[in-house]
Amino acid sequence: MLLAEQRRLLCEYGRRAAETGLVVGTAGNLSIRAGDLVAVTPGGVPLDRLEPGACPVLDVEGHLVESGLQPSSETPMHLAVYASTGARAVVHTHSVFGTVVATTMTELPPIHYNALLLGGTVQVADYATYGTPELADNVRAALAGRQAALLANHGGVTIGDDLDKAFEATRLLEWLCEVYVRAKAVGEPRVLTEEQLAAVVQRALQPPTFPTRED
Ligand SMILES: [Zn+2]
Repeated sequence: MLLAEQRRLLCEYGRRAAETGLVVGTAGNLSIRAGDLVAVTPGGVPLDRLEPGACPVLDVEGHLVESGLQPSSETPMHLAVYASTGARAVVHTHSVFGTVVATTMTELPPIHYNALLLGGTVQVADYATYGTPELADNVRAALAGRQAALLANHGGVTIGDDLDKAFEATRLLEWLCEVYVRAKAVGEPRVLTEEQLAAVVQRALQPPTFPTRED
């Protein structure tokens, strides 16, 4: 079986996405790139009931190389992301708070410094019908220089060097969206300034050192 380990990982993380509530039923899809090949979750199967053999393998241009079930309808979006970024994995979900923000805002401003892990302000890609080249183009534009994007009235997408990083980015994106939505219910969230964000980057580059007792 081609990309056996990658297809096993799709099933493992598909289960985790369902168990953590990021995905309800079939409302999400995952893929992994290995060289010129991409393993993707199939359409129409709840992500917690995937089997490796059901996950199809395509080349990066979208030709089926080893078929399982029909590739997810969002496969063109995954392939567009691979064509325009160095990503090795893509996670797309209709998670609740991500979709709330994607339905009401044009971007998610950085109100917590962990937004820097996704590239800062998260852009909301313009709406287009799911599965279309137009949506793929809009997502590609929104992802430029970032690890995450929201899709207007639809959900979110994250990328990573591997599936674990892309999955953790989706968890962080959902957390940031939930914090924003809950903060907005209390008052007007303060957005971190460029200077405050730059200071965080500086701090990360120069972590504090702690002397040992003998020093
Ligand atoms: Zn979708």
